[in-house]
Amino acid sequence: MDIARFPRVRLGHFPTPLEPLENLTRALGGPRLWIKRDDCTGLSTGGNKTRKLEFLMAEAQALKADVVITQGATQSNHARQTVAAAARLGMHCHILLEDRTGSTDPDYTDNGNVLLDRLHGATVERRAGGSNMQAEMEAVAARLTDAGRRPYVIPGGGSNPLGALGYANAALELVSQATDRGLRIDHLVTATGSAGTQAGLVVGLQALNSPIRLLGIGVRAPRERQEAMVHDLGCRTWDLLGLRGELPREAVVANCDYVGGGYGVPTPGMVEAVTLLARTEGLLLDPVYSGKGMAGLIDLIRKGAFKQDENIVFLHTGGSVALFGYPSTFGPALR
Ligand SMILES: *Cc1c(COP(=O)(O)O)cnc(C)c1O
Repeated sequence: MDIARFPRVRLGHFPTPLEPLENLTRALGGPRLWIKRDDCTGLSTGGNKTRKLEFLMAEAQALKADVVITQGATQSNHARQTVAAAARLGMHCHILLEDRTGSTDPDYTDNGNVLLDRLHGATVERRAGGSNMQAEMEAVAARLTDAGRRPYVIPGGGSNPLGALGYANAALELVSQATDRGLRIDHLVTATGSAGTQAGLVVGLQALNSPIRLLGIGVRAPRERQEAMVHDLGCRTWDLLGLRGELPREAVVANCDYVGGGYGVPTPGMVEAVTLLARTEGLLLDPVYSGKGMAGLIDLIRKGAFKQDENIVFLHTGGSVALFGYPSTFGPALR
């Protein structure tokens, strides 16, 4: 797997730390829990999109783009990191935010990530839930091209094969950290949404012939659709890397039992997980992704899905800025 031949622009702080979760391990009575701190990538409060953007923005630069277009939900962490990356590289950024939750809470619509989008200088447009966001971006790109600009369109979540390279590389980084400290990782658990993170990881782990079992906890789609999305993107990433053989379908495993009422809609398990991590480890998860991912991991631990002596790494994908879009959700837990 030769990732170095793909142009990459440095935007983040890597490698991110791999830390033990001793208090949480004790609180849950085992197994041994660890956290991979991709919330600490450094770019505008960090998060998992930074790794993808290092490859995507390098392509935007190579094509001499002067404006980057992307899309996401209102509280999109991807949009916020893209806007920050564009600011750093001297490009304008135009984002389309889809109203997936229907929330009219002014904190949800304008605080958290949306505040930071504007602070970094983005042009922000809104779209109704269920819009064809890819088509909406292409329409904006056509408009900007007509006005003499050079737009570069990044798909939602930065999830295409080029973006997924960031997480194939993260698999290398994690395996090398574990090797350095003599740690046998049995399971790697991550929230999975637009699929680029899990797809990149599964490709990286397979290419290394690693025995680490990867589990995605879904935040939007039902299991079958989520796994198909991850596998499809994984196969295209596999091809981009020119790997031999093929990506086995069985390597892609998602559990989508923790979505609750829908994307971005709070669940009691998410509130418990966010509160527990804040109070036992001093760590901030987020309400949309890592909170539901951790809720899934905690529930699976309680159901006895793991052995006591297994080592489980939770990938912290960032997003805590979105907490400021959901203050009333945490109100009851704080009293
Ligand atoms: C985007 C995001 C994810 C999901 O990653 P995908 O590559 O879209 O599957 C997880 N956590 C956070 C905080 C995110 O912003």
